[in-house]
Formats: sequence, structure tokens, C-alpha cells
Amino acid sequence: MFQYDVAIIGAGPAGLFCARNAARRGLSVALVDSHNRPGAKLSLAGGGRGNYTNRTLTEKHYVTDNPALVRGVLRSFPCEKVLNILRELGLPFEERDFGQIFGLRPAALMAERLAVQCDDAGVDFYLGCTAGSITAPASSSSPAFGRKREEGRLFSLLAGREKISARNLVIASGSPACPAVGANDNLARLAAAWGHDVEPFRPVLVPLVMPGNWPLAGLEGISLNVRAGLRHDGELFWPDPEGIRPLLFTHRGVSGPAVLVLSCWWKSGDELVLDFLPELPVVELLDEKEHGRLLVRNLLSRFMPARLAEALCPADLARRKCAELGKKDRLRLAESVHRFSCLPSGTEGLKKAEAAAGGVRLSSLSRSLESLAVPGLFFCGEVLNVTGLLGGYNIHWALASGALVASELTKRLT
Ligand SMILES: Cc1cc2nc3c(=O)[nH]c(=O)nc-3n(C[C@H](O)[C@H](O)[C@H](O)COP(=O)(O)OP(=O)(O)OC[C@H]3O[C@@H](n4cnc5c(N)ncnc54)[C@H](O)[C@@H]3O)c2cc1C
Repeated sequence: MFQYDVAIIGAGPAGLFCARNAARRGLSVALVDSHNRPGAKLSLAGGGRGNYTNRTLTEKHYVTDNPALVRGVLRSFPCEKVLNILRELGLPFEERDFGQIFGLRPAALMAERLAVQCDDAGVDFYLGCTAGSITAPASSSSPAFGRKREEGRLFSLLAGREKISARNLVIASGSPACPAVGANDNLARLAAAWGHDVEPFRPVLVPLVMPGNWPLAGLEGISLNVRAGLRHDGELFWPDPEGIRPLLFTHRGVSGPAVLVLSCWWKSGDELVLDFLPELPVVELLDEKEHGRLLVRNLLSRFMPARLAEALCPADLARRKCAELGKKDRLRLAESVHRFSCLPSGTEGLKKAEAAAGGVRLSSLSRSLESLAVPGLFFCGEVLNVTGLLGGYNIHWALASGALVASELTKRLT
């Protein structure tokens, strides 16, 4: 039996960073992961280059049950901290649109180099070992422990064949998005069994699938800037803080940044609402004198791809001159251009999702991400009910929450 100050389950960015920081401050740390190499999901990030953080970081860029807690964590761990980590790891980066910070070398290097730093700091790795038979100290206040009390003051678990015990346990096991790299929700289920509120996971940052007969079928390959919103229980809202982003028509529906971001809020039954000319009110275009003699479909195709203009324009208006349209027809045209509505049949699912919303709710944890039910148990990263939008927000959260947990552990144990 090996005994540690801290056992961390999950060697993604959250677990690696937490392990590195805790070990550098003198704690003995075990880091367990089912994979043979750390950061399997991190290596896929940003098309292999890693979108690690973002210049604009606010709680509005996350879907969570406790925005105030997320705001506090972000304030103490701004974008510059991640840039410093990249500099320290020798990973060059560049800024792209929407303030996104991308690496210029493979994202796999971030995982490799963090693992080297962990190694240098004395972290013991248990790779290729799925953590199982996890038990908490007898003092835990969760009802689950009332029924099934474990003896002793330590957490214990099996990492493969090795039995590990530790004064603190950190669950950094991520979400079930992208099962191809072994992602799963097993430890979120364990957290639920131990008395934590756990929001069911659902795929996000994922393309939406449309019914085969939807009016814009057959436009695959077309991409343009839109504002995307949702109609939930009859109420329209536009949740994306950035407003306008590209949409891409696919064979099965819609994708592109506008849709991936919106998928963070989409739930079955919500209508997708698209504004295809978010900066050009169509009524103003109709009013322009020089457009009066144009056919309506020709006017639209000056501002968007012709095939989309054809599909959006109500059939009875397409061949009429702009100047001829009366008030009702103008409003009808504006509705189909600025409020195009459709009911997605679903998403492309966890296999195609870059993240999963849901997980351990912050309401079950203290401000330092310690369990209120099981003292000494901490959570960090995507296993928490904190989901970042597209733009580097999820890796940022993994690092920020890992850092917070490490500093809390250090305060307590040194
Ligand atoms: C294709 C793709 C691209 C992405 N691109 C970006 C991007 O550019 N920017 C961004 O911010 N985010 C991106 N993300 C999301 C980002 O990768 C994740 O949010 C991030 O990796 C979460 O970090 P984590 O440490 O919490 O969990 P993970 O990275 O998922 O790590 C969790 C680890 O826990 C291990 N584990 C789970 N259960 C057990 C167990 N019982 N025993 C042992 N080990 C266990 C897993 O093997 C895994 O290695 C992308 C995701 C995908 C799928």
C-alpha cells in the first residue's frame, strides 16, 4: 500500500496542473489515469494545436449553476496566467479572432511537458490504471457513508493492482464527451452516489442535426456569418455573448462556431432561430432607392449565397420587384431572413462533441471546490458543471480549477 498527501484521478490538463502545483509545494502526489499517456483529449484540442485560453474571460462564457463562483476563479486566474504557463513550457502561441489563443506546436506537447514537470516535482504516475474500489474516510457526512462506513482516516483506491491511500482525493476525470479517447462519466456517477448533486451530462460544442425535409436541406458547404438564438417554451433568447459568428451548412444539419456555441444551451424541443443578415435590416435594404427595381431574390443574393437566398425567400415574393412589396410582405420577408426558425431533431452526440455540459454541481462544493458531503474530496476540470463556450474556455477552466484545488491543498497540508 502506497500512502500520499493527495491522490488525483485523471491526468488531463486539470489533473496534471493540480498535481504539478501541489508537488512543487512539497506535497506527495499520486496521479492515476486509465490511459498510458497523459492528456489524451488535450492532444486533440483545437484541431491538434490547442486553443488554450481567451483574451476575453467572463462567467458569461460558461454555462454553470454558479456563475459567481466561476467569476471568482477566473479573476484569480486570468488569461495571462495561461500565457505564462505556455511560455514556461516553451510552447509558442498566437492570437486569432474572438481573442482565441492557439498554440503553434502540437497540443500533445502541452500534455507531455506538463507530465515532465510533474515528474520533476516528484509526482508518482499510475498510467494505464483505471481507478476503482474508491472509498472515503469514515468521517464523511454523506448519507451514503452512514450506511456503508469505511474504516480509517484516508481515502483509498485501486490503481490497477496497486492499492493507494491518501489524505485527500481529487477527481479530475473529465466528461464523457469524445468516448473515442475513453471519456466516461463513471466518477460523476460515484459523486452522485456519495451525495453530490450531479447534472446529467449532455453533448455540447456539437453540430445540430435537422430533419431530412427541413427547408434549408441541400445547402451543405455554404458558410456565412449569422446571429443564432433559441426559442425555449415560446421565448426567444440570444445567449452567445459574442453575437455574430460563422454558421456552416452540413449534410445533416448545421455546424460552425455559431451553432457549436449555441449547442451549449440547446435542449431537445428548443427551436433554433437564425438571423441571416444580422447587421443589415432587410426592410432598410428594400427601402433603398437603387434596389426598387431589383427582384427580391436578386436583392438577397447580393448579400448572401444565391442558393440560400432562393431557399429563404418566400416563393410568392422571389420574382417580385422590391418596390412593389406592401407592408405585410416586407414583414414576411424580414421574418424569414432575420427570424428563420426550425426545430433540430438532435445533436451529433457525444462522439462528435468537444465537451459535455453537466457534471458535479458547484452547489455541492465549497468555494475552493471541496465537497460539502465528503471533506477532503475535491473536484476540478470538466467533471464539474462548468462548461466553456468555444474559444479556449474549457482548457482555461481545467487549468484554473486545478490551480485552485492545488493551492487549497497546500494551505491545508503544509
Ligand atoms: C476534439 C476536441 C477538441 C477540443 N478542443 C478544445 C480547445 O481547443 N480548447 C478548449 O478549451 N477545449 C477543447 N476541448 C475540451 C477540452 O479538451 C476539455 O475540456 C479538457 O481536456 C478537460 O480537461 P480535464 O482535465 O477536466 O479532463 P480530461 O482532459 O478529459 O482528462 C480526464 C482524464 O481522466 C481519466 N479518467 C477518467 N476516469 C478515470 C478513472 N476511473 N480512472 C483513471 N483515469 C480516469 C481519463 O482517461 C482522462 O485522461 C476539446 C475537446 C475535444 C474532444
